[in-house]
Amino acid sequence: MNAALTARCVFLGGPGAGKGTQAKRVAEAAGMAHISTGDMLRAQVARQTPLGTKAKAFMDAGKLVPDDLIIEMVKARIAEPDAKAAWILDGFPRTLPQAKALDQNLSKAASLSHVIYFAVPENVLFGRLTGRRTCSKCGAIWHIENNPTKVSDVCDRCGAGLVQRSDDRPEAIGKRLEEYRTLTAPLLAYYRAHNLLREIDANRPPDVVFQELLKLMQ
Ligand code: AMP
Repeated sequence: MNAALTARCVFLGGPGAGKGTQAKRVAEAAGMAHISTGDMLRAQVARQTPLGTKAKAFMDAGKLVPDDLIIEMVKARIAEPDAKAAWILDGFPRTLPQAKALDQNLSKAASLSHVIYFAVPENVLFGRLTGRRTCSKCGAIWHIENNPTKVSDVCDRCGAGLVQRSDDRPEAIGKRLEEYRTLTAPLLAYYRAHNLLREIDANRPPDVVFQELLKLMQ
């Protein structure tokens, strides 16, 4: 796959739509930087940085972290050397102000190539989130029913223990879906109007979605 063709890409969709899993895989296959704002925030929370401390309460409640904090974090990240050539933004933008800030930050010559919308019905998202488990060491993503590890709660890849994200508990999931509906879903119309939106039916097995993504991003 030619990374130059897929230079700057946004993966958009509800929580649990498979953006993170696919972004990791595509980024590896195409030599792109994978920029996940959720992963970056979780790293800040783990390190107990000032940003992490501010973000934690919002994240645990299933709410979006305020735009100004996120926008600064992403601007700094896409200025780093490994993000010069090509990147996938996974989980950003999630609000209209974030989308506009991204547009302003990118030059015309290096504007967005594609926005891929991962379409999955909301009831399916709920089931994916409640059963999701993440490796505490390598970050691999599993599911207790759809993609179980051989030994319960032990990562097949690296042998470390699995954890449930604090915001994958039912109390937070309802709020995250609501935030998605009210704040993030309007981005579909925004990017459609900019002629950047491409949709993928992400309610299918990961390998099928991956193969189609590679085609969509050509
Ligand atoms: P994710 O791993 O993408 O599901 O993100 C986990 C949580 O991090 C979200 O529920 C938000 O609290 C926060 N978060 C991640 N990305 C953003 C963003 N672009 N804007 C606001 N909050 C975000």
